[in-house]
Amino acid sequence: MEKLSNIGVIKGLISEHGFTFSKRLGQNFLVNPTVCPRIASLGGAKKGVGVLEIGPGIGVLTNELAKLADRVVAVEIDKRLIPILERTLSEHSNVKIINEDILELDLDSVIREEFSGLEVVVCANLPYYITSPIIMTLLQKRLPIKRITAMVQREAGIRLTAPLGSRDSGAVTVAVNYFSEARILFDVSRVSFVPSPRVDSCVVSFEPRSETPPVKNEDFFFKVVKFMFSQRRKTLLNSITQTMGFPKEMVKTAIFSFTDDLSIRPETLRLNDIIVFSDTLYELFMEALED
Ligand code: SAM
Repeated sequence: MEKLSNIGVIKGLISEHGFTFSKRLGQNFLVNPTVCPRIASLGGAKKGVGVLEIGPGIGVLTNELAKLADRVVAVEIDKRLIPILERTLSEHSNVKIINEDILELDLDSVIREEFSGLEVVVCANLPYYITSPIIMTLLQKRLPIKRITAMVQREAGIRLTAPLGSRDSGAVTVAVNYFSEARILFDVSRVSFVPSPRVDSCVVSFEPRSETPPVKNEDFFFKVVKFMFSQRRKTLLNSITQTMGFPKEMVKTAIFSFTDDLSIRPETLRLNDIIVFSDTLYELFMEALED
């Protein structure tokens, strides 16, 4: 098979199959020949490893993964791409294509059934319209995944990997930090794709933690995180009082559990501060319910 990152080869394939790019499905295919081999090797594709790929497109990254890993399972939502993938991946007997929505798939079963005895990693050039839902699904399900290596919009990469306590951090940063260690591996220019998107991209690595930090109630913790960042300009006190409807005195007591600064703002908090705050608020809330 000719080089799939070659623009002429891509144009030939899509015109032969009558394929047109779908903006709605985030279809921007890689045409920079150096990017996929880098994602494959930095992503941990090698002997003894099974790779779950999300959104293979015409198979440019899939090919690189299949050369290095024992097995590749690629999940593609667009059924128009399946005949193209069957052709572009025909040389690889270790690849399976699943025509499904990644967010609807029972990932636990797929991993158990397809990757028995293998270490599992995820590699993807993600559809940007669902970057956060995909990353959060992979992390929240606590799947047996060693590493996730994903191409995302540069702005999303900055938000996902921002140090907690910095201006770039948000609810998704806290969630990603809680479940994993995340870092940007390298930047990718918009001209590396066809069609070329309006923004640049970067490749991010997420290493799921073997144990997440202990919190009293995880659902409550994530509610607090969501609400505290929903009104970023407000102080923590005002934002939680207004969005969660707790009495001001209760929220003040929870703030005093980690600082004496009542004007503290959500984006300045570190993970441990947020956990202490949420745990104290949860205890006070449960006590109030019992009274
Ligand atoms: N991997 C290819 C590449 O690098 O050239 C294509 C990447 S393109 C940015 C994203 C791919 O994800 C597209 O092929 C698109 O059809 C697919 N996709 C979009 N939404 C999806 C979903 N919910 N589940 C699975 N695949 C999806």
